[in-house]
Amino acid sequence: MFATDRFGTAFSGIFAGMTHTAPAPRDAATTPTTVPITVIRGDGIGPEVMEATLRLMREAGAKLDIEECIAGAEVFRSGDETGVPDDTKASIERTGVALKGPLETPIGFGEKSANVTLRKMFETYGNIRPAREIPGLETPYAGRGVDLVIVRENLEDLYAGIEHMQTPGVCLSLKVITHHGSEKIARLAFEYARATGRKSVTCATKANIMKLGEGMFKRTFDEVAVDYPEIEARQILVDNCAHQLVIRPEQFDVIVTTNMNGDILSDLTSGLVGGLGFAPSANIGSETAMFEAVHGSAPDIAGKDLANPSALMLSSVMMLRHIGQPVVADAIEDAVLYTLEEGTFLTGDIAKEHDPVGTTAYTDAVISNLGKQPTVGERRVTRPLIMPAIDWRPKQVVAKTRAVVGMEVLLEEAEMTAAQVGKAVEACTEGSPLRLALISSRGTKVYPGEIDDVEMIETWRCRFVRADESVELTDDQIFRVLSCLGETFRWSNVQKLQVFDGKPGYTKVSGED
Ligand code: NAP
Repeated sequence: MFATDRFGTAFSGIFAGMTHTAPAPRDAATTPTTVPITVIRGDGIGPEVMEATLRLMREAGAKLDIEECIAGAEVFRSGDETGVPDDTKASIERTGVALKGPLETPIGFGEKSANVTLRKMFETYGNIRPAREIPGLETPYAGRGVDLVIVRENLEDLYAGIEHMQTPGVCLSLKVITHHGSEKIARLAFEYARATGRKSVTCATKANIMKLGEGMFKRTFDEVAVDYPEIEARQILVDNCAHQLVIRPEQFDVIVTTNMNGDILSDLTSGLVGGLGFAPSANIGSETAMFEAVHGSAPDIAGKDLANPSALMLSSVMMLRHIGQPVVADAIEDAVLYTLEEGTFLTGDIAKEHDPVGTTAYTDAVISNLGKQPTVGERRVTRPLIMPAIDWRPKQVVAKTRAVVGMEVLLEEAEMTAAQVGKAVEACTEGSPLRLALISSRGTKVYPGEIDDVEMIETWRCRFVRADESVELTDDQIFRVLSCLGETFRWSNVQKLQVFDGKPGYTKVSGED
């Protein structure tokens, strides 16, 4: 059985606990099974837009057994640094499905976002954000048929949250990209394209600059694309992607990208179709799915009955398709789109000709429009989504040969020149199989050589390599050089340089031969 989908929120048949082909979607209209879900009202405008969405789902006939839980600001304030209490975790584990309002991290409480914690806790590795032109909404792109979906990797990249101050004035933020994570998200993007009858998947990366991390994402996408010959696989640099999205967004179908790129691009694509008030999303993993609006808690309008609940309503449409209630999902989607197309009852963020109405009155209007159909926008026929099933250790990431060929050490030194640092560092390699290859400052080579046009900072990255390439480096040899460096400098970071199957697992420094 196929589900249908007008807005592009196509999503069906991924049930909690399933990792392979999902069953044909059920529907509350024909199967009176009540589905347990976890509901988190959230912070700021969260409770208002959630109340509106729950009312609408109830009126539309959704069969839900709701477990209400908390997360976010009030949990942080109670002293729980995760922002996600055990009861909430247990509920989501039980239901496998959550509908959540926006969560904020109050300043001064906790360090991590409860949103990111939830995504990581439940391994929801794919963030799916559709952006489709909405009938009746006046935007610079109206009439051009924008209908695209961003599939954003949701767990890795700079969101790994690994940051270290090297000195009080220098920070390193680690961008973590894995082959495993890249393969999963690429497969999810192609499966999503297949399930929703889309023609192309575009991989957006910054592989020209981050050749290893973003480069691996790009290469993995190409490997995966071979398994989906009927779908056009395209590559684009993410900066050009942003440009093309503004110039000609209708050329895109599905865009798959890394976490940070996806965060930025998907806010941009929300803007193309009317703004954050209309952007739904799903966080999808093999076991759990969480549905939420893209927008945050908008504290400036919280509690004033001003918020536009459409984004959460459309997120509930994605959820209802996911839990096998597509007829209810269609009814809600139609009622929201009909109300917007009609244009009489609109919230302040979009009302132009008419006086704006509040969240409650808008919701009343949507509810009264249940059963009506918008005149534009064709439904998309969708099949159940097949969740990728991938071994944790796929063969292609195991190197046949590997060797430690050097190390890099980050040193702190504010007084010396590059040449002075170089000489002092070289003194530590006497009698060692390691030799100093170069020193860089913010990625640019500053030693050896007469380099005086680079703005230098108080950290110096020293690259050591094997003096004799036939010699295998040992940890002990590395420790000895490190220990010597520690007598003269503060060092804060050490990185082994490795070669895998003859290919360097590190990049060249700018200015290096
Ligand atoms: P935001 O909450 O999305 O709000 C930005 C602005 O967009 C609002 O001030 C409001 O603008 C408008 N807006 C957003 N949603 C709207 C809606 N439903 N109806 C009408 N207008 C809406 O972004 P933020 O101010 O950057 O973030 C506020 C808090 O939310 C932060 O603590 C952030 O960490 C958190 N956040 C949470 C999530 C999440 O839970 N997934 C996502 C993003 C941010 P005007 O009224 O000024 O026009």
